[in-house]
Amino acid sequence: LRRIFKENNVKANLQKLEEKEERVRKTGCCGRCSSGPWVIVMPYGYFYSEVKPEDVKEIYEETILKGRPVERLLFTDPATGERVERLEDAKFYKVQSFYIMEDIGKCECDSIDDYMGRGGYLSFIKVLKEGNPDNVIKTIKDSGLRGRGGAGFPTGVKWEITKNSRGDKKFVVCNGDEGDPGAFMNRTLLERDPHAVLEGMLIAAYTIGAQKGYAYIRAEYPVAVEMFRKAIEDAKRLGLIGENILGTGFSFDIEIKEGAGAFVCGEETALLASIEGKRGVPRPRPPYPAQAGLWGYPTLINNVETYANVPKIIRDGAENYRKRGVPNSPGTKMFSVTGPVKLTGIIEVEFGTTLRQIVYEICGGLTGDNEFKAVQIGGPSGACLSEAFLDLPLDYDSLKSAGAMVGSGGIVVLSKKACMVEVARFFLDFTKRESCGKCIPCREGLMQAYRILERFTQGKGTYEDLENLEFLAGLIKTASACGLGQTAPNPILSTLRLFRDEYIAHIEGIC
Ligand code: SF4
Repeated sequence: LRRIFKENNVKANLQKLEEKEERVRKTGCCGRCSSGPWVIVMPYGYFYSEVKPEDVKEIYEETILKGRPVERLLFTDPATGERVERLEDAKFYKVQSFYIMEDIGKCECDSIDDYMGRGGYLSFIKVLKEGNPDNVIKTIKDSGLRGRGGAGFPTGVKWEITKNSRGDKKFVVCNGDEGDPGAFMNRTLLERDPHAVLEGMLIAAYTIGAQKGYAYIRAEYPVAVEMFRKAIEDAKRLGLIGENILGTGFSFDIEIKEGAGAFVCGEETALLASIEGKRGVPRPRPPYPAQAGLWGYPTLINNVETYANVPKIIRDGAENYRKRGVPNSPGTKMFSVTGPVKLTGIIEVEFGTTLRQIVYEICGGLTGDNEFKAVQIGGPSGACLSEAFLDLPLDYDSLKSAGAMVGSGGIVVLSKKACMVEVARFFLDFTKRESCGKCIPCREGLMQAYRILERFTQGKGTYEDLENLEFLAGLIKTASACGLGQTAPNPILSTLRLFRDEYIAHIEGIC
């Protein structure tokens, strides 16, 4: 505000601003990237979207000085087509279930004072004071928290294995190498609530007995890196990181490692190799990182969103945590939704929410004359699900039984205008380029499968190609060495299963 008033030479308002000591808080992304920038004026809660610098003067004069809303700037709810005064009044907001993002629109993302004012670091202090790591593991196990990075492995079990593994040193690593096209949940969390992730890492470090932590964040996320670096510095300043933390004898240090953007470095063993300064290439497991990770020492590696859940579970208790979601997938999940829907961006819903609720209630349905055809869920290695799956509850097990996966949480909505063969080709183009090349089924198989898909999209595909493609996809899935190769054929397999007629149409030349 000061800058804009100065630039526009609005002296009177600048003076009033100084007198009233209004504060501008940086709240981070509120999820609806497509309608930003947002401004929420407190204490009224008026919620403005797509605000431009030239609107600031009017907001100041009407809302801050007179307490009145600026009608033309109020957010239009795509579900109803009506303007809403407050964020909480919008339908997309009401249908979601904010837990990780519970302070949406209210928190000051780069302030440790604000985080502590919201109860931040109390969970870490509680854990330190109780001095019972086994109790923490029990709580995390009882909560049923599953890794949000993709595989959904039980977090408490992973912590227990790492704690019980022998080693002179132990490490805690945060996987913030979010490489899926169209996915930005981790980025959003690191930018808007970095202390929540850091507190989760500190609790994990104390629990498993780690002395050093690494936050692996991709360099393409400069704001997330900056926010997390500031969070570390502020926590150090308050004595929450360093030697003999709060006089408990527990010492811990943490540093950021910026990833160079290779998708395969999201795979945990490749990520650890990258931290060690080597080329990011996966290695066979076992041994698992929990037994022999960084430089051969036991290493706990969890995703950004997994760590952000931890302080809240300690705060609320396992039983309360389990009230959200479904028995085998408790809690909430952040998803990024893209495609021809009225509202795109980050959402948070309880596990068990259906695709129909996400597409039609939260995102307001499809734009213009678009009709729903499918979603591609779980990142570039995810599966395509047809309209028949709109009422499928989204949780780890239901998606697995449908041949899909939660993955990192990317959802791409596809309209009837989309060609599913082209969709499979598009995602395979990405995974084949990101293959590290270490094993033949993935390196050569993806290339051959891509060439067949390309023949289809050029109208040159044959029934023999169709047979070969199916065989190749199954082979790559079973014979590849790491998760990238094992999941990369999913777009092919799922489109062959649910949209086979489109492959046939390409062969017959009727599309
Ligand atoms: Fe590398 Fe692909 Fe083999 Fe994984 S499956 S090790 S990414 S070549």
